[in-house]
Amino acid sequence: MIFLDAAATTPVRREVLEAMWPYLTGEFGNPSSRHSLGDAAATALAAARTASAKVLGCRPGEVIFTSGGTEADNLAVKGIALARRAADPRLDRVVISAVEHPAVEESARYLERVHGFAVDVVPVDACGRVTEEALAAVLWPGTALVSIMYANNEVGTVQPIARLAALAHAQGTPFHTDAVQAAGWLPLDTAVLGVDALSVSGHKLGAPKGNGALFVRGRTRLEPVIHGGGQERGRRSGTENVAGAVALATALTLAAASQGDRASHVAALRDDFIRAVRAGVPGAVLTGHPSERLPSVASFCFPGTSGESVLLELERLGVICSSGSACAAGSDEPSPVLRAMGIEDDIAQAAVRFSFDSTVTAAELQEAAAAVRTAVGSVQALGSTHPG
Ligand code: PLP
Repeated sequence: MIFLDAAATTPVRREVLEAMWPYLTGEFGNPSSRHSLGDAAATALAAARTASAKVLGCRPGEVIFTSGGTEADNLAVKGIALARRAADPRLDRVVISAVEHPAVEESARYLERVHGFAVDVVPVDACGRVTEEALAAVLWPGTALVSIMYANNEVGTVQPIARLAALAHAQGTPFHTDAVQAAGWLPLDTAVLGVDALSVSGHKLGAPKGNGALFVRGRTRLEPVIHGGGQERGRRSGTENVAGAVALATALTLAAASQGDRASHVAALRDDFIRAVRAGVPGAVLTGHPSERLPSVASFCFPGTSGESVLLELERLGVICSSGSACAAGSDEPSPVLRAMGIEDDIAQAAVRFSFDSTVTAAELQEAAAAVRTAVGSVQALGSTHPG
């Protein structure tokens, strides 16, 4: 099997498992307990926080461990917007981009539905990029928060985060970025990016599912979303997932150590793969930005097919990838991300995403490109329509 769905999740790295193992077994203490087992857990948690902060270019106290990217996004969007409006009732708008992950988009919609905020959606261009002009057009004095993702999960387009954050700051508005897909591939130094909040998730990086972190810059107001015993300095209650935090910190540290080299190596493989797919399937449409894209993502629409049918055919041929359309939850609606990029529905429902981790080889990608040609050819020959 050739696994080309690393943007969905990755296997746990051996080094990560070894680092977290003691905190699942012998050193199983609760960091809040006042005995030696608790102290050992608290020490491990503090070390994980320090290591994560090093990768994120921030202070340890600015890292909040969460149950994953979804929780980090919820805490950033709801927590910052609600805290700012509590301090100034005129701050009752939030800005998100048209291509956000549901963790951000639904958090903003919750603020609208339950708390009466207005949500301003910045459009993207045909490559999935937010321009500075587009952001400037939706920034109001009442904007409490801007949340724009670092890199898109469906098409891999990378946003000019530092420039967009600077624009928000020019009018005193904090900026959050969902860096779940960017982590491991792009620099995560929050000081260089100039962001006030940034979300990461462990399972995209070789840590287990169910752990992540939110960086929140020291001076930023934050209303907690989960209430309880006051862990994480009152910003995220609940007994800390010590092993998860150790896993995340280890995965972030390992990824950061090799980031530049890995990114250029995988980007070169990705470009060869894109060329091979286009040569094999002349009508293939590459979606997303031609150059400002994650090294790890190649996404296409194959007109005359449905993404789901190509996906099934590819799996039969031993290649695992993901369809770009949101067929989950019984919907056969084409992806809102592709729609936002102006791609027609009949093309958008023919979307397939290939995403790689660093272990992918040129031989695997060559084999996969040949499988794509066969799969698309047989789906087109069947005159398949979208199964829904
Ligand atoms: N944000 C983006 C861009 C994602 O791709 C994902 C997961 O696919 C998430 C957030 C959610 O992260 P998690 O699965 O850790 O909840």
